[in-house]
Amino acid sequence: MNIYARKAVWQAWLLGAVGVAAFAVFVHFDAYELLLTFLQEHEDYELDEVLLALDIFGLLSLIYGILRLWDFRQEKTRRQKAESQVDWMALHDHLTGLQNRHSLERRLRQWEEAPNSTRKFSVLMIDLDGFKRINDLVGHHAGDVVLTTIAARLREHVADDNLFRMGGDEFVAVIDTPSLALPVATALLQSLNRPVPFHDTTLDVGASIGVATAPTDGATGAECLRAADAAMYAAKSAGRGKVQVFDAAIRERAQRRDLAERNLRHAVAYGGIRPFYQPIIDLHSGKISGFEALARWQMEDGSFISPVDFIPLAEESGLMTKLTDLLLRQACRDAAGWPADTRLSFNISPIQLKDRMLGLRILAILMETGFDPRRLEIEITETALIQDLETAASVLSELRTAGISVALDDFGTGYSNLAQLSNFSFDKIKIDRSFVTSFQDQQKQEKIVRAIVGLGIGLEVPTTAEGIETEDQLSSLSSMGCTYGQGFLFGKAIPADEALRMFDATIAVPLRA
Ligand code: C2E
Ligand code: MG
Ligand code: MG
Repeated sequence: MNIYARKAVWQAWLLGAVGVAAFAVFVHFDAYELLLTFLQEHEDYELDEVLLALDIFGLLSLIYGILRLWDFRQEKTRRQKAESQVDWMALHDHLTGLQNRHSLERRLRQWEEAPNSTRKFSVLMIDLDGFKRINDLVGHHAGDVVLTTIAARLREHVADDNLFRMGGDEFVAVIDTPSLALPVATALLQSLNRPVPFHDTTLDVGASIGVATAPTDGATGAECLRAADAAMYAAKSAGRGKVQVFDAAIRERAQRRDLAERNLRHAVAYGGIRPFYQPIIDLHSGKISGFEALARWQMEDGSFISPVDFIPLAEESGLMTKLTDLLLRQACRDAAGWPADTRLSFNISPIQLKDRMLGLRILAILMETGFDPRRLEIEITETALIQDLETAASVLSELRTAGISVALDDFGTGYSNLAQLSNFSFDKIKIDRSFVTSFQDQQKQEKIVRAIVGLGIGLEVPTTAEGIETEDQLSSLSSMGCTYGQGFLFGKAIPADEALRMFDATIAVPLRA
């Protein structure tokens, strides 16, 4: 009972008590007879009309009170309905009608607080395979149809109370009897693998399912969920479309990953990762045209971990934005001391191009360090354009408007087609190292390199050949018309002070005939 209801009850009791007391006093003193006698004796006062008016007023007040009480009740019902609707929305996913992540967290908390006898259940972590492709290629409406169909299929095997949508294409089913977890997961997998009808065609999706049981695989709800998640990732890396039960090997891998993530967090926080610089040479003049910043994580023993290993980890653990800001700030400070006609090239991961604030953050760092935007070149890969075309396009146009140039990195290794590429204006194309390494031995590769250089010349976009290691490679690329070169032949990535000294050294590049 809320404070207002308590007050109303208290007031009713008080008024009732006052009424009973007044009645008793009136009866005791024969007050009504005394009043009547008084009225008859003083006819000329017209008090009977006043009393009649008071009677009518009292009756109307009673009716008014009853009507307001009725309104109050209706308002209360309306409010209760609205409140329960808000509660529902807070705890459910409105597309599929399944419970959401908050509901699951609440459920797991209840489990943790329950007495030991009920502490046994399994969690199935279900992640759709190929959902992103449908969303990107067929559209969001198709994605919604897939999600609602999948939710309906889940309901065929698991009670609504035990189903949750975690967001995106991830679902969780809680199985109260652990011995049934595997049979249910297998049945779900079969059901989710059926194509989803969409208009007059069908959409192919599948699922990977990870199974973990509490309390064996995780002493708390969150731990059990993480175990199911790790099992699901193991199912994905074992080729998708599989059920994987959490086991010791997965536990060990997950622990290693947790440790690596913790170390990475520490390295990002305490400056353990910094940019090194690899020279890019102008093949016309033989001069250094600039440096590409390449992240290096130095271990306590002096060894380095490759960005190929820690960049994906930084992306998965949500550290990429912080790491990029840190590296870019440092790189701009280092590059500010280079000759004015040289450039800084900086890599941006595909995942970051989905972030609408990226442009603003880069510009803020340029303002802060005073580095000229026209001396900065952002390197992006084709994958970045495929993942979220619209956001990537808007971020890139923001950067280009500010004077920053954009290079297409690792060209030839992604999935983009020429039509897609022609939608963007690039200031440079970088030919992937894999072609440069083998083009002199393989005729097909040579044709590809020649074609890319030709494409650059046709589009009037300079090309950079990555991974030049030999004089032979250099002279062939140079004679093909490639504009810039980068590779171990000119130098590996080195610390900032060594890079600065390199400007004084002359690099012997055979000039084009
Ligand atoms: P990338 O941008 O294509 O960088 C070129 C990679 O090729 C570098 O590897 C470089 O050391 C290596 N390389 C250059 N010349 C040669 C050569 O002649 N022979 C051989 N065998 N390798 C050569 P690294 O530094 O390991 O970086 C690998 C990738 O990691 C980079 O490829 C880039 O995509 C990514 N990366 C590096 N630093 C960053 C960063 O700060 N942010 C982001 N988002 N990605 C980064
Ligand atoms: Mg690069
Ligand atoms: Mg590259």
